[in-house]
Amino acid sequence: MRGHIIKGREVWDGEGQWPVFDPARGEVFDAVPQARPEVVEQAVAAAVEAGREWARVSTLERVRLLFRYKAVLEEHFEELAALVTHQHGKTLEEARGEVRRGLEVVDFACGAATHIQGRTLPNVGGQVDQLWYRQPVGVVACITPFNFPVMIPLWMVPLAVVMGNTVVLKPSERTPLGAVRLAELALEAGIPAGVINVVHGDGRVVNQLVEHPAVAAVSFVGSAAIARRVYETAAQAGKRVQAAGGAKNHLVVMPDADWAQAVPAVINSAFGNAGERCLAGSVVVAVGEAYRPLLDQVVEAARRLKVGPGDEPGVDVGPLIRAEHRDRVCGYIAQGEREGARVVLDGRPGYLERPGFFLGPTILDAVTPSSAVGREEIFGPVLSVMQAESLEEALRIIEANPYGNMAAIFTQSGRAARRFREGVQCGMVGVNVGVAQPLAYYPFSGWRESFFGDLHLHGPDGVEFYTRKKVVVERW
Ligand code: NAD
Repeated sequence: MRGHIIKGREVWDGEGQWPVFDPARGEVFDAVPQARPEVVEQAVAAAVEAGREWARVSTLERVRLLFRYKAVLEEHFEELAALVTHQHGKTLEEARGEVRRGLEVVDFACGAATHIQGRTLPNVGGQVDQLWYRQPVGVVACITPFNFPVMIPLWMVPLAVVMGNTVVLKPSERTPLGAVRLAELALEAGIPAGVINVVHGDGRVVNQLVEHPAVAAVSFVGSAAIARRVYETAAQAGKRVQAAGGAKNHLVVMPDADWAQAVPAVINSAFGNAGERCLAGSVVVAVGEAYRPLLDQVVEAARRLKVGPGDEPGVDVGPLIRAEHRDRVCGYIAQGEREGARVVLDGRPGYLERPGFFLGPTILDAVTPSSAVGREEIFGPVLSVMQAESLEEALRIIEANPYGNMAAIFTQSGRAARRFREGVQCGMVGVNVGVAQPLAYYPFSGWRESFFGDLHLHGPDGVEFYTRKKVVVERW
């Protein structure tokens, strides 16, 4: 069993355990404890204590430690990717992509000596100068979801820490092992004990952290309802909070799309990571005459995807995270049928009886925007197909959905692409790109029900979020 990491030491104390599954085989291979309130208290106290010293360490020294952390993480790159596949199920190729995207935030954090700089306006009056500079906010609670067990902790922790904060990281209880390894490797790199602490558990631990008076800021990524609750609770307690939530992402395909580009992009967006991705394109909106060729080609390509354990070569789609989650996804497919959708590719036969939590790619045609499958996040390998007469109608369909994470357009028309990116009501936009993930240097910019807060994760927003400005007016 892996424990919490508090003050640089592994602690196994808990009230009950969370099993960690290998979803490809349906077997438990590890476990973590559910933190008792006293353990959470210890973790926060460790972060407070370490923070007194850490905030005074020079920025250059913190940057040097981050460079060392980066080197250690690179050395363990394959190990981290294998750990992601083992506990989450995604393919090794996808796991490597995840670790790489996470490491890019460490790259960004290594530039802290530039990012952290303030400004000076000298000589504002008689021998008076004014300046502002950044200081850390204090203890940051980082709460992460199951679907990117290494990347999402890395969206938060390196940047928080290099800015002089200390962290209590609460990873998903379903995929908690990446966080433990990230904390251990930080110690190996020389980041002092207590700067990065990890506690395990469910919503009870989250609530305790979010309400804790010594926690100054909360970074959360997870489902929309919980993101909203975490946002409200933290804001009510006067804390700064960024809470990224769920998604329903639309891929609009125009009749002039380049099919060789659009079809693989739609397939990857819908079925990559087994659809368990907040940037998954889960609805394709075929505009006008795009409908028939698109449907035929997408069904044909999805039929060819190989479903299996993520650590086996040639596999395209891994298992879902848990049997219950797969049941929920299958429940959506059945509901879609009841609501009038047509199952043109059915991923259920042949997979449900396997030992792992597999479900094959599934495509539902004739989905309406107001039906459950057309409206809600399914979080599995299920693509809903809708039709629109025009780009304007497609934009209205997207706007009518409460989420606003990502949307993409496939077209060869600059005019259509420009109209789309200007008008679409979401924060991340793909043009002939199916998964429009901002790199570490840009903010991860969900809108509407996909994000609660002001400053987004990583990029310049992350720097703002993890620092507060101090203004000095001085006369000498
Ligand atoms: P989740 O909301 O169930 O869990 C996220 C975190 O919240 C976990 O650490 C979990 O322990 C904690 N939690 C669970 N129940 C809670 C409760 N009642 N009160 C307080 N905290 C609680 O999400 P998940 O199933 O792990 O992850 C999938 C979801 O995350 C999807 O909705 C997906 O779209 C979303 N997600 C969003 C982004 C983004 O950037 N917008 C990125 C990845 C995942």
